[in-house]
Amino acid sequence: MSQSAPTIDRASLQARFDGFKAQNLNLNMTRGKPSPQQLDLANGMLDVVSSEDFTAADGTDARNYGGLNGLAAAEALFAEYMAVSPSELMMGGNSSLALMHDTLVRAVLFGTVDSPKPWHKEEKVSFLCPVPGYDRHFAVCELLGIHMIPVEMNVDGPDIDTVEALVQDDPSVRGMWCVPKYSNPGGQTYSDEVVNRLAAMPTAAPDFRIMWDNAYAVHHLTDTPPQLKNMLRACEAAGNPERVYMFGSTSKISLAGAGVAMLAASERNMSTLRKQRAVQTIGVDKLNQLRHLRFFKDMDGIYTHMKGHTALLKPKFDAVDAVLTRELAGQGIATWSKPQGGYFVSLDTRPGLAKRVVALAEEAGVKLTPAGATQPYGDDPEDTNIRLAPSFPSLAEVEQAMEVVAVAVLLASST
Ligand code: PLP
Repeated sequence: MSQSAPTIDRASLQARFDGFKAQNLNLNMTRGKPSPQQLDLANGMLDVVSSEDFTAADGTDARNYGGLNGLAAAEALFAEYMAVSPSELMMGGNSSLALMHDTLVRAVLFGTVDSPKPWHKEEKVSFLCPVPGYDRHFAVCELLGIHMIPVEMNVDGPDIDTVEALVQDDPSVRGMWCVPKYSNPGGQTYSDEVVNRLAAMPTAAPDFRIMWDNAYAVHHLTDTPPQLKNMLRACEAAGNPERVYMFGSTSKISLAGAGVAMLAASERNMSTLRKQRAVQTIGVDKLNQLRHLRFFKDMDGIYTHMKGHTALLKPKFDAVDAVLTRELAGQGIATWSKPQGGYFVSLDTRPGLAKRVVALAEEAGVKLTPAGATQPYGDDPEDTNIRLAPSFPSLAEVEQAMEVVAVAVLLASST
């Protein structure tokens, strides 16, 4: 993107832009929500538990209290989903973000099993934040007063040389956020080398923790998905079994507002986390676990179901790439990711233009995630990154919205 600005016919661009404005568009590409059609795929889940039929296969009355982790069969299925054993798994409510939030709150209040003292008693606690990244991760850190240090993402994960140097030298660095598969928003999947080095790197802090948010583990857009190494096993093999907390959920598998979430970690971590969790709740929602069990049955059921999501999502991701390629390719004014899975496309403008592009798109009726949202504290020092979320709008709306975005990029680049 360092080449000089291309000659752009500003008058015709402006005419296109004014044409969009005249259409009074109202399109929204802000949040990674499943579309109604994706949710429809799981409607059957609403019928598999009823007033006549709420007893699990092992005889458990799913309506009542009982079992911190809920149904044993659900624990077994989601342990398999997370590729851990049930003794390494905690079942949550409908949100993995809530589990991440609570896990960090516990570290701040009480420390982890390896902490010399609770994090709130430390002068400073910092987290490494691969950027661009997930705004809600950053919001948790901001709420808890955890200082955020951005680290650049490469194609195979965060810049691991930088990560190693930072954790080795600075004892205030207590943790790190990772979306290891189909990263939000760049779409990268961490390579085996990055996984191994994260697991093995020496850290100045004795209680360094990796928040491994594997939100998009089975959310492929291709038939040949990249493989991600099991981080808990990598940490064990490297002699740091306590280093990772792994998170997952069915929010983008079943129903985004009514999925089930899970946390996996070493048994030593888990023994403390479970005791703390038992004070928080008597147990999880077993009726919802039963819905999931009856609807999906097993991992094959989940894989088959996800093919329906791929069929709905792929044309939208293809459309984003097709419009951006048609309008912007080869001009040195923008680059964008071509994800093999997940929910986002990451668009980079020339430095200093992202906010302007978002404002122009909004003027023409297309709402985008605010520029800067993908960076800690909402501040993109280069003002280049925009997160695009094509899942919710219809295919026709995605095509239309992307044309507006492309013209906004062209206009912003021509001034
Ligand atoms: N983690 C990532 C990386 C996400 O992109 C999202 C939602 O967009 C979530 C977590 C939220 O997950 P949940 O619904 O399980 O809280």
